This record gives sequence, C-alpha cells and structure tokens, in this order.
Amino acid sequence: MQFSDVIGQEKLKHHLAETFRAGRTAHAQIFLGIEGSGQLALALAYAQYLLCETPGEHDSCGQCNACKKVKKHIHPDLHFSYPTIGTGKISTDFVKEWREILNETGPYLSVMQWLQKIGAENQQGNINKAECVDIARKFSFTKGEGRYKILVLWMPEFLDKEGNRLLKLIEEPEPDTVFILVAERQEKILNTILSRCQLVKLSRPSDEEIANRLQQDLHLGQAQARQIAFLCEGNYTKALQMAGDGTADSDLATLFASWLRICYQGRENMVHWVEYFNSGKHPLDEKLKPISMGRKEQVLFLQYGLFFLRELTQLKLNPQTQTRLSDTEQKTAVGLIKLLALEHIDKIMQLFDDTIYFVERNANGKILFMDASLQIHRLFKPLP
Ligand SMILES: [Zn+2]
Repeated sequence: MQFSDVIGQEKLKHHLAETFRAGRTAHAQIFLGIEGSGQLALALAYAQYLLCETPGEHDSCGQCNACKKVKKHIHPDLHFSYPTIGTGKISTDFVKEWREILNETGPYLSVMQWLQKIGAENQQGNINKAECVDIARKFSFTKGEGRYKILVLWMPEFLDKEGNRLLKLIEEPEPDTVFILVAERQEKILNTILSRCQLVKLSRPSDEEIANRLQQDLHLGQAQARQIAFLCEGNYTKALQMAGDGTADSDLATLFASWLRICYQGRENMVHWVEYFNSGKHPLDEKLKPISMGRKEQVLFLQYGLFFLRELTQLKLNPQTQTRLSDTEQKTAVGLIKLLALEHIDKIMQLFDDTIYFVERNANGKILFMDASLQIHRLFKPLP
C-alpha cells in the first residue's frame, strides 16, 4: 500500500512524509476516522514509507524488498494487533486470516467483516491480556533489522483495562519503535492511552474522491459511481459493499426521473409504475429492464430522491448554483423547477422521510408508493 493508494487525505500524507524526512516521526499516534475513511490504509502506507529502502519525497518506492514485504503483510518489522476471539488467543494465532482479508477485502474493511472472517458470530472480539503481553515481549529490548520497528494496532477500542500494560512501551519507547493505533471511536479508547498518543484525524473522503476511485478500481460507470458515492456518506467500506451487492446495477437516477414524470401524468401509469417498482416487472411494457427492489433498495431510492430534491432546492433558490447533479440529472431538475414550488419540494421531502420510516418498519411497499405517488401528483397540479 502506498500513499497514492489511499483515497484523499492529501494533507495528512504530506504531513506524515514531511515529519519523517525531518526526523520527527511521532512515536505513538492514533489514526482516527469514521468507518471507511481509510485509517488502516493510511497506516499501512505510512508503515511502508517508514520501512522503504529508497523512499521518495512523498511516497514509498513500491519496488524495493521492504515495500514488497509490506505489501504482502509479511515484513518482519511490521507487527499487527487486532481484535480476536477465544481465551488466551493472540493476534499471531489469526495471522493467516488477517493476511487473507487484507489481500481479498483490502484495508477498507469493517470490524464486522473481520469478526465474521474469524467466525466470531455473536461473540465480542477483544484485544486481551495475552495479546498485550505478547506486544510487550515483541517491543521490549529488541531492535528490528530495518530502520523502524512498527506496530499497527487496529481498533484500540477493543482493548480492555489490560491495555494499560502497553503504557510503559508508549511512554518509554525503545528507540525507533513506532506505534500506530487505528481507531474509529475516540470515546471508546482508554484515556490513559489516548492522552499519550498524537491524534491524527482523518476526514471523510469527498463524493468526488470516492466516485473516482470506484470508477478506477471497480470500473463502474460514471453515473453509478456517483450514485454510490453520495449514498455512502463518505464511507468507502460501505461504497465497496454497495458496489458488491449490486446497488450499482439499478440506475436510481433514471428510475426516479421516470417516477416523477409519471406522478405528473397521474392515473393508470402510476398504478403500473408502482407495480413495476415493487415486483420488478412492468405489467405492460416488457421491454423495460426488470429491476430488483427489496426494502433496502427502496430506502436507497428514497434517499436518492432526497439528495436530488436538496440539489433542486439549491437550484431553485439560485439558478447559478453549482450542483452535484450530473448533466442528465441537471436536465431533469431544470424541467421540474417550473412545475414545483419550494414549499412543494419541501413537502415531498417530508413525504420521503416518512416513507423511509415506514419501509424500514416493513410496511407494505405497494401501498406506500401508491400513496406517495398520489400525494406527489396533487402537489404538481395546483401550479399555473
Ligand atoms: Zn520501497
């Protein structure tokens, strides 16, 4: 993993490389960000940079022996610690699974994915006493063969009081050891540890950064990549899951535009559309692409609608606004501006909020969307 593989976070990458070059690498740091912002990816890229035999000004070389070993997660000076299950078990016992998940899923993985991988089912993972003892053993009085000896401890939130065994290592470090704690929730980290580490806060990657990455890495089309990007709320882990489970297959924008058009027209078309939306097959038009719309997709559809209407509101308030809409969406929006007053857009948004609430609570989809269609139809009409 190189810095260039990490989505966004340009300022932090720059800062980390610069402190290294200036010989001011902080000994204990916490990389903190919400799930999917890339803190583990950044930690891996940083470790590779510190261990690289010929590091450049901004990134590791990616070619040397050290880089290759880090990439395979087998560098002898890069140690990992993470939540495990089972009394007396330590991270080393799960190293095979750890390498597998990093290779298969990549560093944008969630704790849930990891716990599933090691078969935790309903068990709580933790970083236990045996593991803390093992870390202390690895990091006391020894010197690595490279420049640094590094610990990437993923999810310090899972350390219980035994984590205090690490305080001495953090406070009186052996020379050239670097501790990178990779966390999501600051309030769940032991205060004793938190207060002794430098905090490195990651921001959520932007919609644009996520969309670009989805196109580049997963070869999604532009429209679908953008759709996932704004639905995942800056969480690339979620974006990958959405892309994997086929959320990208249905084109929400087209579907949504067609729905509004049909609500405008009213009557039978609405009944057919609702049928199509809920069963996946259009009763009259067989050429229409079949869709798969479970509850989750219906919620996504409405969330997309909320996004679209928020942008539409901006556009109505100021036609010169730079929106986040694509060209096609923009056309739909411009067409709608004349047909909907601001207060009506607002009412439709409230309607979507309510509908999401009921879909999530298993209410009947056909009835909900028929009702929503009728309400939207009426909101279109009173305008001159
Ligand atoms: Zn290298």
